[in-house]
Amino acid sequence: MMKPHIALLPCPAMGHVTPMLQLANRLVLIHHCHVTFLHFTAEDDHRPHHLMKLPPSVTVLPLPLADISALTTGDTPLFSRHCITVRETLLRSLKPTLLQHLQQTPQAFITDMFCTQALETCAQLAIPSYILFTTSALFLSFSLFFRDTADNNKASGEFLQLPGGCKPLIIRTADLPLKYNLDDEWYRYHIKRIPKASGILLNTFEELEPEQLRAIGENSFFKEIDTPPIFPIGPLVKETEPVCGRREECIMNWLDKQPSGSVVLVAFGSFGRLCAEQISELAWGLELSQQRFLWVARAEEEKDLPEGFAERTRGTGMVVDSWVPQVRVLGHVSTGAFLSHCGWNSVMESVCNGVPLIAWPLHADQMMNATMIAEEIGVAVKVKVFGREEIGRVVRGVMEGEEGKAVKERVKEVKESALKSLAKGGSSYEALDSLLLQWKQIT
Ligand code: UDP
Ligand code: UDP
Repeated sequence: MMKPHIALLPCPAMGHVTPMLQLANRLVLIHHCHVTFLHFTAEDDHRPHHLMKLPPSVTVLPLPLADISALTTGDTPLFSRHCITVRETLLRSLKPTLLQHLQQTPQAFITDMFCTQALETCAQLAIPSYILFTTSALFLSFSLFFRDTADNNKASGEFLQLPGGCKPLIIRTADLPLKYNLDDEWYRYHIKRIPKASGILLNTFEELEPEQLRAIGENSFFKEIDTPPIFPIGPLVKETEPVCGRREECIMNWLDKQPSGSVVLVAFGSFGRLCAEQISELAWGLELSQQRFLWVARAEEEKDLPEGFAERTRGTGMVVDSWVPQVRVLGHVSTGAFLSHCGWNSVMESVCNGVPLIAWPLHADQMMNATMIAEEIGVAVKVKVFGREEIGRVVRGVMEGEEGKAVKERVKEVKESALKSLAKGGSSYEALDSLLLQWKQIT
C-alpha cells in the first residue's frame, strides 16, 4: 500500500516551526508517512539549518516570499509586516507551488493556526485540511468563545465562565489577553476560519487538559459554532538538541559543574523582552533567592542589570546572551526549575523534562497558561505581584521550600503521563493514529 502523503505548513516563528518539525518527525518515523514540509524563504530551494534535523525522506518545499514593499510603508511595525508577508506569500505562492511541485496529491494538509489562508487553497485543490493549534486547549476554548464579539462585558467581574464539559471552565479576567488578542482583528480573523478545517490538532494531551478538551469536544456551544473535531496529539517536544558552537559548549560546561537540581533556568522565549524595571527587579529577586541561575537575556537588556550584579553573582549565576539550547538545558541534571514566560512550547518542554515552573507570564496566551499550570495542574508557582521580594520568595520556595516539594512531585507525575500518552496505546498516539486511519482511506 502507498504511504499516506501529508503536507505541513508552519508559520515562520520559532514557537510554531518547532512543534511542526516534531509532528513531521513523528509522522515519518512512527506512522510511516511521506511528508512534504513547506517553508517560507527568500532564497531558492535550500534546506535551512533548522530543517536539517528532518528525516532525509521529507520533501522540503520552499515557498518564495512575496514582495510586500508596495503594501507597506517604512513605519509599518515589524509584527504587522510579518503578518502581511505571511498572508501575501500564501495568497500568491501556495497554489502555484503546490501545483508545480506536488507529484502526488496529499491525503491531508496541516496548516499552522496563523496560516489559515491555506484552507481556501486546499479547498480549491480538494485536499482535506487541518489546523495545528500550537497552544493550550484552554486558550482554544477561550478564543472560540470570544471570536464573534469584541464585547468585553462578557468579561466583567473577577472570573469568567467558558462553556464546559461537565462544569464550566473558569478563567480569571485578569488573565485575558486584552491588548494582544481580544482586540486584535488579525487573531480573530484566523480563529473565525477554524470551521473551514476538517480537524484541529492540538499540542496538548488528554491527561493534561481533560476538562478543557471535553468542553470543546462535547459542549453544544462549540458544536453550534461549527468547531471541527479536535485531536490532542502532544506533547510535540524535541527529545534533545545538539549543542552548537563554543558559546553553547561553555554554557553546558558550566551546568556540568553545578550540583544536581540546583540551577534555575530563566528565559522568556523567542519574543520576550523585559523593560528596564523588570530586568532590575528580576536581578535583585534572583540575588535575594540565593539560588544558582542561568539567565537568557538580550544584549540590550544586560545594560539594565543592577550595578555590581555580575560580580556579586559570579560563580553562582550566569547571564547569557539571547539564546540557549533550551530543551538540552531543561534535560540537564543540574537544572532544578524554570522561570518562564509560559509560552506553550516552554511549558510542554519543562513538563516533558520533569522540571517545575516559576510562572512569570508577559502577554497573549501566557497569563492563562500560567494560571492553569499553577492552579489546576500544579506544576508551577506563579509570581503574583511584580517585585524583587516576591520573585526572591517564589524562586527560593520552589527550589527549597514545601511548595517546591509539591510541584516537583507533581511535575514528575505529569511527565510520566506525557510519556504514556505518546507511547503506543496512549491517548496522543491513538489520536494521531485515528487520523492516519482516516487519511489512508482517501485515495
Ligand atoms: N531550532 C529548532 N527548531 C527550529 C528552529 C531552530 O530546534 O524550528 C534550534 C536549532 O537547533 C538551533 C537554534 O534553534 O540550535 C537556532 O536556530 P536557527 O535556525 O535560528 O539557527 P542559527 O541560524 O542561529 O544557527
Ligand atoms: N528557545 C530556545 N532557546 C532560548 C529561547 C527559546 O531554544 O533561549 C525555544 C524554546 O525551547 C521553545 C521556543 O524557543 O521551543 C519558544 O517557544 P514558546 O512557545 O515557549 O515561546 P514564544 O517564543 O512563542 O513566546
